[in-house]
Amino acid sequence: MRGTTKVEKCFSRQELNDRAKLDMVDTTPLRFYLRTAELLFKQAKIYEQEGDLQASYILYMKFCNLVISELRKHGDYNNPTLKASISSLNKSAMVALNEVEALKPILDKKYADYQHHIKQREAAIKAEAQAHDAQLQLESRNQKDIERTIREQQDQYWAHHTPAHGWSLAKALEGVPGVSSTQLTPQHQHQHQHQHQYHQGSSGEIQYPEHHHREHDLVQYHQHRRSDVLTPTAREPQHISTPTGPPPALPRKPGSVSSNAPKLPPKIQIEEDVHEFSQGLRTLIVPVRLLDRFLNIVRPNTIKNLETCGILAGVLSHNKLTVTTLIIPKQTATSDTCSTTNEDELFEFQSERDLLTLGWIHTHPTQTCFMSSVDLHTHCSYQLMLPEAIAIVCAPKHDKE
Ligand SMILES: [Zn+2]
Repeated sequence: MRGTTKVEKCFSRQELNDRAKLDMVDTTPLRFYLRTAELLFKQAKIYEQEGDLQASYILYMKFCNLVISELRKHGDYNNPTLKASISSLNKSAMVALNEVEALKPILDKKYADYQHHIKQREAAIKAEAQAHDAQLQLESRNQKDIERTIREQQDQYWAHHTPAHGWSLAKALEGVPGVSSTQLTPQHQHQHQHQHQYHQGSSGEIQYPEHHHREHDLVQYHQHRRSDVLTPTAREPQHISTPTGPPPALPRKPGSVSSNAPKLPPKIQIEEDVHEFSQGLRTLIVPVRLLDRFLNIVRPNTIKNLETCGILAGVLSHNKLTVTTLIIPKQTATSDTCSTTNEDELFEFQSERDLLTLGWIHTHPTQTCFMSSVDLHTHCSYQLMLPEAIAIVCAPKHDKE
């Protein structure tokens, strides 16, 4: 038996390139795109290290498309405050291009192997279906041969064994469930009409015994005469036992013939490892203790009716995103707003620790728990960087009620 073959689903380079396309929206501040680019580059490196080359290729290509083609279309591209960041990304773009070039032949080979494997599998499936059809045909042919032989034997048998004198259908059917001797009488009488209860007269009219002369009975008898009545011909008795012994055995059932049929080829089981990355959003894991920790830390602000926000940072590993770090950045706040003040410092902190931005969390000290229009707008920026990015809103005073 062949074991299970696990095969990674592969895409052509054109398909991978299509997945790497992105459109930039000019109304979104350029700094968000710069962070998006940074995040793409980091993820591409992680997938490459883990050997997930298709995902790595898509992300490197996305990064190159963004940095080399799209960023310069943005109105803020020449903004001096962003010059350093753009310069840094351009350097990364050179690295990404080299990685892409190195990945191309590897991915082309993988795709060719995958195509070859698919063709082999299709051929194996076709061969299996053909073998199965051939076996069915063989069984059907064998069955027909056996049935013909049996028929011939039965014909031969009955040609030499005419029903013995004194044989009667009533006797033959004696003891058969549902058939009583009284039920049989009209048929039986009819079969032996010349010997027993009625006789054909010289005029051709049938003469019935006196006690059957009532009109009702006559109708019954005429009906019997017209209907097909079971008679002991050469063919019919094969279903009932006769005084002279049983006819040849019935043919075997088709299933019992298969032992002579050719054996099917071993079954090939193939499990396709379809990458989650190619199918949509990846899993994002949030520790259960996160909410309590955050609320404890921000309690002094909450008491003062000041909103507080935090950044949910974490890691990417084997196609899963996990929040590992809660960062409370420098910020200014009111009762229903808050905004970070030194974002460069925040991103430097994350870069040094290889932490990806996976989402954000904030309080509504005076309001209920909901996403305001400002919150939704902010969250769009996070999801631009990472489609799986999450937003958590806490309304501590309302939670207690
Ligand atoms: Zn809010």
